[in-house]
Amino acid sequence: MRTARLTNGRHYPIGKILCIGRNYSEHIKELGNAPPEAPVIFIKPASSVIGEGEEIVIPNYSHDCHHEAELALLIGRKGKDLPVDQAMEYVAGFGVGIDLTLRDVQGELKKKGLPWEIAKGFDTACPLSSFMEASRVADPQNLQIRLTVNGEIRQDGNTSMMIHRIPAIISHMSGRFTLEPGDVILTGTPAGVGRIVPGDRLEAEIPGVATLRVSVA
Ligand code: ZN
Repeated sequence: MRTARLTNGRHYPIGKILCIGRNYSEHIKELGNAPPEAPVIFIKPASSVIGEGEEIVIPNYSHDCHHEAELALLIGRKGKDLPVDQAMEYVAGFGVGIDLTLRDVQGELKKKGLPWEIAKGFDTACPLSSFMEASRVADPQNLQIRLTVNGEIRQDGNTSMMIHRIPAIISHMSGRFTLEPGDVILTGTPAGVGRIVPGDRLEAEIPGVATLRVSVA
């Protein structure tokens, strides 16, 4: 079973992975999308998770796998219909995740109005770091998120640039899905997404909080 590790040694079996799309305006522009009125939500299965040092396997039905580096929240308490002002009490830790996306497959699905899961939920589609305890992260809404591919900077954003802020995301999602310990929330990607190919080495980092190194098989 996949487990999420906190820096204090606690482990949680990973539950569902709730993701928000289009949460940074520069990223919305780079894909030519319109800003959403309500948060766009999708789910990755726990079977898509890999950890530090593991390999991404791009499925043979795609030729355009993109990286999206994102702040990841680890949920530590069960909750439903959470008010915005209590939402942060449910976060056990913060980490960095990569929302791997088969952009060509997603494009076809979008055109047909179909759900995105096969473009975003494939095996290895969710590299996750370990999580820093929430009490040790002073301001999660002011964190730098960086991703390099083979040492070259591709993404360099800040969580202050989110459209829907962290407590609002948690509150909104908890109104649709009961949050449970071990659930993970990916909070959207800043600009700079791009293609990865076999042999690439990816490093995602939220300085002072988490780092994650994976490679493409
Ligand atoms: Zn994403």
